[in-house]
Amino acid sequence: MEQTKHLPLSLYGLEAETIAEILSLTKNFQAKQIFNWLVKGVYTFEAMTDLPKAERERLSSLMSSACSSSIHTSETDESGATKMGIRLHDGKVVECVLLVDKKGRHTACLSSQVGCAQGCTFCRTGTMGLFRNLSAEEIIEQYIHLLSASKQPITHIVYMGMGEPLANIAPVTRSIRYFHNPKTFNISLRRITVSTCGVVPGILKLAEQKLPVKLAVSLVSADNRLRDRIMPVNQTWDIMTLKKALLHYQRLGGKRFTIEYCMLGNTNTDEISAKKLASYVRDLDVIVNLIPWNPAEELPYQTPTEEEIDHFTLLLDRLHVNYTRRRSRGREINGACGQLAVPINKGLDL
Ligand code: SF4
Repeated sequence: MEQTKHLPLSLYGLEAETIAEILSLTKNFQAKQIFNWLVKGVYTFEAMTDLPKAERERLSSLMSSACSSSIHTSETDESGATKMGIRLHDGKVVECVLLVDKKGRHTACLSSQVGCAQGCTFCRTGTMGLFRNLSAEEIIEQYIHLLSASKQPITHIVYMGMGEPLANIAPVTRSIRYFHNPKTFNISLRRITVSTCGVVPGILKLAEQKLPVKLAVSLVSADNRLRDRIMPVNQTWDIMTLKKALLHYQRLGGKRFTIEYCMLGNTNTDEISAKKLASYVRDLDVIVNLIPWNPAEELPYQTPTEEEIDHFTLLLDRLHVNYTRRRSRGREINGACGQLAVPINKGLDL
């Protein structure tokens, strides 16, 4: 009796040889044709026009080549950000964002989980809780949907969407290797950033891998008591444990990271906060990115005023802190850092 072949949910993440085997293709060059279509952002067999019609029909009846679909694209806002909702095979929805800057960089901001378990109190995703991890295919397909919509090559990737990437490290690193593969998108590892709220075992694991991506560490406060309140992850791995992990990360192969400092109005922008931050980063070879908090009505914070930001940066200048002041992007479409949250996962409709 012929055994039924187990078909994957998606062809993304697979090499041409594996695709040939899965689809029982007798002609190997057809697997390469399918592979090439997939990386061009074409993911329906019907649209793969260099395959014979009968073969396209056979493949379409067998499986679909992608396991997610784009369901909603926001208008691009003034800062050049477009947010997209992606429906997964089980009906869950994640969001991803395409950011286009004046230098012509097209950056895909990808989610790594549906929701997030870390519960950072300044972040909308943190209020959702964790539904589940994303597979590598589901991460790759967010990029594909953004690529299909933009028609422009994507030059940079940041794992800063929904979820904590280092709490789902295996699929995240698999997707990074796929994006970096010269046969797919050939994106330099220096153009890929993984963000973390400070999941120390994940930082140590990433340090061991030959994957010199950029790491962005969300600090928000260099005071344990305040950080305990704002970012519950600090109750497990406090700021000194985090620092030890970062020094280890930096020692292994000179890997670089940035410290992300989300400025919360009247909370972490005073003189004591500046001094604690300066002393924390003194022996780290690092740049601090200052990002004003993006408003989210339901959260108990406020965006700092321009005067407050100016005062804080003046303090950092005096303390010789190496920092950059970041403009918030995607705010108008709720697509900025910490603003992604999808009501459909709680049973509501988009
Ligand atoms: Fe999760 Fe990142 Fe939001 Fe924290 S900031 S709750 S880690 S998505």
